[in-house]
This record gives sequence, C-alpha cells and structure tokens, in this order.
Amino acid sequence: MADKQKPIGVCDHCEGPIPRGEWYTSKGTARLHCSFECKQTANSRKGNSTRVSKLVKRVAVGLWKNPRDGLDSETIKQLQSVTSRKGRLREVAEGRWRNPALTDEARKKLSRPRKHSDVLHSAIEKLRTMKMSELTIEERDAYHAYRSELRNARRDEINRLARERYHHRQSESSPKEHEKQREK
Ligand SMILES: [Zn+2]
Repeated sequence: MADKQKPIGVCDHCEGPIPRGEWYTSKGTARLHCSFECKQTANSRKGNSTRVSKLVKRVAVGLWKNPRDGLDSETIKQLQSVTSRKGRLREVAEGRWRNPALTDEARKKLSRPRKHSDVLHSAIEKLRTMKMSELTIEERDAYHAYRSELRNARRDEINRLARERYHHRQSESSPKEHEKQREK
C-alpha cells in the first residue's frame, strides 16, 4: 500500500481537492486520489517504471530483440496504425478518450483566425450580402462541408458535456456505489 504523498484531502496525482467526506477510505487510511481516473493513471505510471527497468535490464544483457526487426516499412506502418487504433478503442471503452480537438492547445489553435480555402472564403464573404442560390456550386459545396464540420465539432462538445454531467450525477446520487467502484 502506497503512502500518501500530498496532504490529506489533496489528490496525489492531480493535486486537486478530494471531495469532503472521502478523505479517508473505508479502511480508515488517507485516500490517495480524487477520482478513479487519477487512481488509474497514477497506478499505471507506477507500474510503468517497473516495466521500464525490467526492459532496460534485458537490453543490457542482450536479451531484448526488437520485434519489428527485419520487417519492411510497409508492414511496420500497418502495425503502427493497428496499434494506435487499438489504443484509441481501449481509451473509448474505458471512457478516457477525449477528442483531441478539445484540448486547450487545440482550442487555442482553432480559435485563431482561420485560413479558409479561397473558395470557402469567397463563399463566406458572398453570404454576407448574397443568397445561397447566387453562389457557385463549388462555393456552395465548400460552405456546406464547412458547416457540417462545425456541427460535428459542436456535437462532440455536447457529448462531452453530457458525459461529464452523467459522471457528476453518478457520484451525487449514489456515493455508496461510487465508493465501491473506487475500491476496485
Ligand atoms: Zn486527482
């Protein structure tokens, strides 16, 4: 059992506050983490240093062999895409996946003035004063694609908020049940 690093009531992982009334576990020891996510992440990082030191030892004694040695670059590319897809699916299954467009970094980038394609740009400019029917087909297509992109981004945002509300409700409505999940 790991020792508490931060003061009682402070998450060892994110250093955020642990909700009052959850500062101690049912066993009476100080709770380490504010949430299931923080607990999981911290535990996985801890395990990771063990895995890495084992790997370093195997490399040092010459036991480690790159499993991709001797594969051609096309096969390696395929393996990489399979691996990253698997990782993403696992994140989705565990509810950890976040739309990369919603990170602070990405938001900043997206909120900068957009460099639209020339066609889209002229479509947007024209629509200030003209009707859709007065645009060229290319302009209309570009504009519709642009609008649907915006809709998708909004839908992702709405889904994210719904997920957060759901988790919040879960923790409000049944602290007992939530507690049980945490102990796992
Ligand atoms: Zn935390």
